[in-house]
Amino acid sequence: SAALQLQGISKSYRSGSTAVPALRDVSLAVPAGTFTAVMGPSGSGKSTLLQCAAGLDSPDSGKVLLGNTEISRLRSSALTRFRRDHVGFVFQSYNLLPQLTVAANTTLPLLLAGRETDHEWLDYVLEAVGLAGLGERKPQELSGGQQQRAAIARALITRPDVVFADEPTGALDSGTARQVLDLLRHTVSALNQTVVMVTHDPIAASHADSVIFLADGQLDGSLGNASSRDVA
Ligand code: ADP
Ligand code: ADP
Repeated sequence: SAALQLQGISKSYRSGSTAVPALRDVSLAVPAGTFTAVMGPSGSGKSTLLQCAAGLDSPDSGKVLLGNTEISRLRSSALTRFRRDHVGFVFQSYNLLPQLTVAANTTLPLLLAGRETDHEWLDYVLEAVGLAGLGERKPQELSGGQQQRAAIARALITRPDVVFADEPTGALDSGTARQVLDLLRHTVSALNQTVVMVTHDPIAASHADSVIFLADGQLDGSLGNASSRDVA
């Protein structure tokens, strides 16, 4: 079954009196339990696609489905709730709060969702991302790679259906980047997660099960098991 379906989504941004198209009639399906990369040149619409797919932004037209839920129909409060329960997001710039410990940063989505922290699960997630024993550190006491691992732990803590990652290795050296990609890869199999990652790095994309290419806001082919047609 599909974890994510985009059905004919389009989106433009206003720039003065003109509309700049960012996505043009994009349809695709990402099977559950897979690791998918989205590639394309700068300005091709990768970030916009990820933001629309994660419910952080809404398309002008078309449908976005996460599992069986058509999130593009949800009102903002319902969408916020849905996102908190079902979606994880890893930002390129980590977005960790400097005054909070790694453990507190990681469990923040649970707090926001009004859910209890399961400390065994927290320890499991921190261990899975290679941060065992570092939960009481502050972000500035970690390396860049460790901060990105903390951002991934935070995206996994709610056991979301889908994890979206925007250039998760963009700020990392190649060795650390590979560890983070191995971690995402491992997450997909160990936790049966669905991960969708934007990257412009072909080496990063080579860790994925399938790659979707964007050019000029349109789908420009795919490799692997991602489908560019709707899956009912
Ligand atoms: P990518 O992630 O592939 O670099 P983006 O989705 O960021 O592509 O951008 C796609 C297009 O939309 C580009 O032409 C970009 O300049 C434009 N765009 C993106 N975000 C905005 C915005 N907030 N306001 C205006 N134009 C935007
Ligand atoms: P990326 O290549 O990772 O998408 P960008 O530098 O294109 O990063 O975009 C960074 C941020 O700036 C995004 O939030 C995007 O929406 C916004 N943005 C991109 N292009 C434009 C634009 N032409 N005008 C206004 N905001 C933009």
